[in-house]
Amino acid sequence: MFTVAKANGVISTIYGAKNKELSFEYMYSFLTRKTAYLTREIVRTDGGDKSKVINVYIESLSWLMAISQKLEIDLELSFFSKFPTICPYCISSPCICSQTHRKPEFTSNARAIKEELFQKKNSLYHFGTPTIYAPEMINKIYPSNKNIYNIFGGFYHSSRLFEELGELHEAYTKLHEDKFYNKNNINDELADILAWMLSLWGIIFKDKDLGEAVDNYYINGCPSCNNKECICNNYSGRIISTSDRNEALSKVKALIQNEIDVTSKDPKNSNVLLKLKSSIDSIDDAIKSGSDSDARRSVAEVDSALAFIFQNTPEKTENQSELYGELDKSRKIV
Ligand SMILES: [Zn+2]
Ligand SMILES: [Zn+2]
Repeated sequence: MFTVAKANGVISTIYGAKNKELSFEYMYSFLTRKTAYLTREIVRTDGGDKSKVINVYIESLSWLMAISQKLEIDLELSFFSKFPTICPYCISSPCICSQTHRKPEFTSNARAIKEELFQKKNSLYHFGTPTIYAPEMINKIYPSNKNIYNIFGGFYHSSRLFEELGELHEAYTKLHEDKFYNKNNINDELADILAWMLSLWGIIFKDKDLGEAVDNYYINGCPSCNNKECICNNYSGRIISTSDRNEALSKVKALIQNEIDVTSKDPKNSNVLLKLKSSIDSIDDAIKSGSDSDARRSVAEVDSALAFIFQNTPEKTENQSELYGELDKSRKIV
């Protein structure tokens, strides 16, 4: 079963040494980038293909864990201290604040609330390990999260995640500006980000253990360099280089050229020929300019030219099948 500490251990083994040399700013920018991609996938795949969400989800979660390690904050303890099976504001489960959309009524004894949260947190731990599946727990406290997700898709979670990311940065900045600032405020912000992330997992992957997904993702160590201790260069990751992309586009171009050679033998094919020739021009432009948009447009143009061909002759030739396969690869990397 997933525990934050176990997943943290996986990240620390692979990236611990490497992350020591990275700045908070560098790590925060990657956390933000991966979270942005995560929100893009959850909004795109509402109710559809969820497999694409998994990788980017684990990458976001990993950066969150790496940042906690950088700041020497126990993310698991921060999370369960803030959300020990009850909402920290109304000390109820399910939360009453979100049902009534107003502040809880009984905020009179702040010290008693704090004590109750502390006791609840302690009761969750058994020999130093929390005995509860956090994604399920957080959605039990906040069942409205699931209702909102079911009605509006991932937009609400996405905006809340970015709100919390902003607050994390603010808290980190205050730590530098304000000499009386309590570092525990950062713990709270990290816990909030984790809460929204775990809520997402609990909703989208209700029956899939997050711990297993993390282990699978890192089964060969770092997925970019395949080392048990990452040796990737900074800013590398699995970024597709311009030359990789141009190579893929050139393969598509060569196969289109074959297609033109065959097509041009029959004068009836003038329409197809025009589309294929225009596709070649677009690929040339994209390779020359190096622009992402040009590359995407050229792939889309080849796609529509192929659709046009298959519309008239649904049976694919060997060259067409190969072209289709190469186009599919290019589509993924442009
Ligand atoms: Zn509440
Ligand atoms: Zn690596």
